[in-house]
Amino acid sequence: MTSAIKDTTVLEAALETVSDGVLITGPYPSLTIVYANAAFYAITGYSASEVLGKTPALLEGKDTPADWQGIFRSGNTTPTEVLNYRKGGAPLHVEWSIRSPASAESPAYRIAVLRDLTQPRALEHRQAQLELLASMQRKVSTAGLDLRVLRQKVVDVAMDATAAEAAAVEEVQGDMLVYTAVAGRARSVAGFRLPVDASLSGTCYKAQIPIFCADVHLDSRVDQDKAEQAGFRSGMLVPLLHADHCFGALKVYSSEPGAFQRDQLKLLEMASHVLAASLYDARQFKSEQDRRTLLVDALPILISFVDNQYRYGEINAAYSRWFDVHPDQILGRKVEDVLGETAFNKIRHYVDTALAGERVRFEMTVPYSRGGPRPVEAEYIPVYDANDTVMGFYALVRDLTERRTAERDHLTHIYNRRGFDRLLKGAIATAARYRRPLSLLFLDIDHFKPVNDQCGHTVGDELLRQVANLLRQLARESDIVCRWGGEEFAVLTPETALGEAQELAERLRVAIASDVASPLGPITVSIGVAELKLQEPENSLIQRADQALYWAKEKGRNRVETVD
Ligand code: GH3
Ligand code: MG
Ligand code: MG
Repeated sequence: MTSAIKDTTVLEAALETVSDGVLITGPYPSLTIVYANAAFYAITGYSASEVLGKTPALLEGKDTPADWQGIFRSGNTTPTEVLNYRKGGAPLHVEWSIRSPASAESPAYRIAVLRDLTQPRALEHRQAQLELLASMQRKVSTAGLDLRVLRQKVVDVAMDATAAEAAAVEEVQGDMLVYTAVAGRARSVAGFRLPVDASLSGTCYKAQIPIFCADVHLDSRVDQDKAEQAGFRSGMLVPLLHADHCFGALKVYSSEPGAFQRDQLKLLEMASHVLAASLYDARQFKSEQDRRTLLVDALPILISFVDNQYRYGEINAAYSRWFDVHPDQILGRKVEDVLGETAFNKIRHYVDTALAGERVRFEMTVPYSRGGPRPVEAEYIPVYDANDTVMGFYALVRDLTERRTAERDHLTHIYNRRGFDRLLKGAIATAARYRRPLSLLFLDIDHFKPVNDQCGHTVGDELLRQVANLLRQLARESDIVCRWGGEEFAVLTPETALGEAQELAERLRVAIASDVASPLGPITVSIGVAELKLQEPENSLIQRADQALYWAKEKGRNRVETVD
């Protein structure tokens, strides 16, 4: 191709205006530079006197491929990317296109056009770093709040991101740094402890600065023996800093010198903020959990959490002790599988009620690992998640054995006054709320003093036991039988109106008269009966039953009387 413009100064002036660098050299392989345009000088930082007469080799640097000038050999090339260097050593990503005009007047000249890709490459690099950072954050956030799992994620991610051979989280405990998580080659030093004052990590931690170590042999801060032992030749350390608190250092390293680049230190430093924040949260959570566990385990109440899939999620120390089981034997298993079908059927209703969102309280007996079954009071408290869905319930179980012991009469084993008083209150409240009938019987053994006086106390005691047993046998399971004191008894009968209560009293009277006898003859009782009136207070009911008993005595004993 020939140009109509013969004046080369016009062409030269045109070349000075383009933004791509243009370089004209002599033939390959000497490649002496005969011309460079203004853009070339701007891109490379060199001046004309430094360029003309030299070769493109002046753009070479540490990571430039050795044979890169081969692109000048053939003449026409497709654009090729090469890592060159500016004057002063800054990296310069260049896209080269070489032309060789096939003209007789310009034999074998090479016209090289170079486009500066440094900016787009830097952007891409930064983009890649951000993506890496984001992926680290994602990976670490999936570890949740389990401190042990999280630490491990941190070292794995740090090792991956820097292509290191080893990584370690070192946390401060007192005046020591402890390797709390390790990856890669550092696995051999898991749990390793070293004094804060005698290590590079300690310096990183105390000064709260990132440290770049290209070669430990050239670094006076490093304990050479320890480094040798850990296989540490070059590495990077960043402090784990969050919320004004530094709790150690994150270290990546290699057994080779110069394994890392300085821009990786920046990346690791950014990552350490993310990691430290997660570690901080997990540490906080763990210490709160430890405190809570301490408290929950110290309670004499059995505490368990059951999720809405009927699986145990948590049990406290009291629970483990009571059933003599290790948490591992229970956690994650279904309640039905742990308790067995029969036992589960007894509580199924309460479990479903709690999972439906209602708080329930009930009494039952449960097996006890250090003796016979024990009476307990259970309370199920539903727990909701953020969406107001029941995620499970806490079961609080209290041992009633002691309370029960205190509420029983030693001689007859039926309730004493104390137990009776508590149950009477509950029974009256239920009857009043649901408008159900409730009656009370008062019994007193007739002429018991002479029996005692003439036959002795032991005989008297035995007779008291026989009467108590008969009362229990003949009353309903739900009736409350009590030794009121001395030779007096009370029977509280829920769901029972006056007529029915009188019938029961009569049955009791007849049974005692026919079945219980002292050496002096049959034992008889007098009985007073009263039914609870609407809104009647407790002591009034007691007084009326006592009044009825008094009349039964008055009217000749061995009989049943009632009052209005
Ligand atoms: P009444 O028909 O009027 O009820 O005559 P009573 O003799 O049963 O009446 P009183 O209340 O005077 O006597 C009650 C007697 O019960 C007094 C005591 O000897 C006897 N007693 C009270 N508590 C016990 C006890 O725990 N064991 C024995 N063996 N006897 C008792
Ligand atoms: Mg009496
Ligand atoms: Mg008596």
